[in-house]
Amino acid sequence: KKTLRFILGDQLNHKHSWFQEKNDHVVYFMAETLQETDYVKHHIQKVVAYFLSMRNFSEELQRDGHRVMYYQIDDKNNEQDLPSNLNKLIEQENIEHFEYLYPDEYRLDIKLKTFCNKLDITSQAYDTEHFYTKREDIEKFFEGKKEMTMEYFYRDMRKKQGIMMLDDNKPEGGKWNYDKSNRKKWTGKPEIPKAKLFDKDVEAVLEQIKAMDVKTMGRIDKDHFPWPTSRNECLEVLDYFCNHLLVHFGDYEDALHTDEKFLFHSRLSFAMNSKMLSPKEVIETTLDYYYEHKEDIDISQIEGFVRQILGWREFMRGIYWKEMPGYKSKNELGNTNKLPEFYWTGETDMNCLKHAVNQSLDEAYAHHIQRLMILGNFALLTMTDPDEVDAWYLGVYIDAIEWVELTNTRGMSQFADAGIVATKPYVSSGSYINKMGNYCKSCKYSVSKKEGEDACPFNNLYWNFLHEKQEHFKNNQRMNMMMSLLKKMNKDTLDTHIRRSKEIINNPNNF
Ligand code: FAD
Ligand code: SF4
Repeated sequence: KKTLRFILGDQLNHKHSWFQEKNDHVVYFMAETLQETDYVKHHIQKVVAYFLSMRNFSEELQRDGHRVMYYQIDDKNNEQDLPSNLNKLIEQENIEHFEYLYPDEYRLDIKLKTFCNKLDITSQAYDTEHFYTKREDIEKFFEGKKEMTMEYFYRDMRKKQGIMMLDDNKPEGGKWNYDKSNRKKWTGKPEIPKAKLFDKDVEAVLEQIKAMDVKTMGRIDKDHFPWPTSRNECLEVLDYFCNHLLVHFGDYEDALHTDEKFLFHSRLSFAMNSKMLSPKEVIETTLDYYYEHKEDIDISQIEGFVRQILGWREFMRGIYWKEMPGYKSKNELGNTNKLPEFYWTGETDMNCLKHAVNQSLDEAYAHHIQRLMILGNFALLTMTDPDEVDAWYLGVYIDAIEWVELTNTRGMSQFADAGIVATKPYVSSGSYINKMGNYCKSCKYSVSKKEGEDACPFNNLYWNFLHEKQEHFKNNQRMNMMMSLLKKMNKDTLDTHIRRSKEIINNPNNF
């Protein structure tokens, strides 16, 4: 049967069993569409990275002898939306059977199912062969359990996959988790190797994007595009991580610094989320390197890395499929404020936010603690509508795809899911930000002050938030200590926090 196989932009898995044999009856189809670029305003580097990676992928398939049809964004045959493109091709090419790979996004899952239901030819969907787990595994794992803690899931994954395990089902090194040693502040030493950046000229694709009037955000240097856009380049980034960054990855995972955008982070999220690299090969390659260099690398560095990918990444995907579609509209804390304008411009005097926003706009990247404890922390403390927060995160980061963006942003960071992902809200005053980095040293505001015009805004917002949302936290044991401190707070002090917070929330762009 003449078959059309459809591949989405984040399904660039070279090792998929589909490609293991060539077949003249099979035509692969990929398309850059306005439907996919414009459902949220994306960072320009994200659009460029996807288009170039998709183009490289399709060329490699063709080089390997597969039949591929590819529509660039300005192709005259491109209908700019998925069902119209597919319907037209099925007719033109006399296709008798349609196949696709399960999308990771709910919206596309429904779209493709609906499309197939309307077809009068046969169709079939296949696994992407990328994740360790299946969509429904988490639901089964947590069946009958009271809490869905990532740590239990992670330990189970370690056992099931035999990763860093001893023969008697005990964890290598004696501990499951070295999180406590992953919290060092970076103060100039050890030296951070320069990040592995590419240096591509992307002027041509930028012109196509501009001509098609794709709505984008963020900044780009057309002569020096830094992201990997082919499997080989992704492998180079992985290799670089093993050779230069792994040795201190865990130690400085939570560190923040004005002069260091990437610290010891791997920058592999785009490579994995586009599926050019699989989580399994990333973990196996990194572990092999660790075992060969065990005398130089502490177990806490590699365990921290494995936990992020085998634990958090798979956990978030499972939660997404367990909780969708309801998850997307959860707003447990009833937050309704607009996201401050400075998230789109970087214009603020709060130094931590200025750095984190400008870096996000410059690089389409911020590391975890910037996303969680600076950008997300401020959005939550100012009680921002989670829809607004999601739209920003989904657009700005090169690795943002809904299954992992939504669970991290709405769940982990904004606590809008009432504790499905995180057991307590990730909020803090300025002291945490000061403890983990050096932003406060060169800030207009004083991190040690709680009153007055130059007091750090986070210090007021923190207590105001706890006060305002206290009903939501009264049964949360992990909040007991902070809530009892709040209760004991002198009334004048609390009033000062509330008054200043009002000023900040009403006018965040003035700070
Ligand atoms: P590293 O620090 O080198 O970590 C290695 C890998 O671990 C990452 O590449 C990633 O695949 C995985 N990982 C680490 N933390 C998480 C996590 N919490 N959830 C899932 N995977 C994780 N990650 C995304 O891939 N896409 C997103 O849209 C996204 N949005 C986020 C939004 C918020 C508010 C927060 C707090 C986190 C978000 N994350 C997201 C998780 C994490 O911040 C990024 O995966 C990480 O910063 C990517 O950089 P890296 O590859 O250098 O990561
Ligand atoms: Fe951020 Fe406050 Fe520190 Fe300034 S003083 S950098 S606003 S935490």
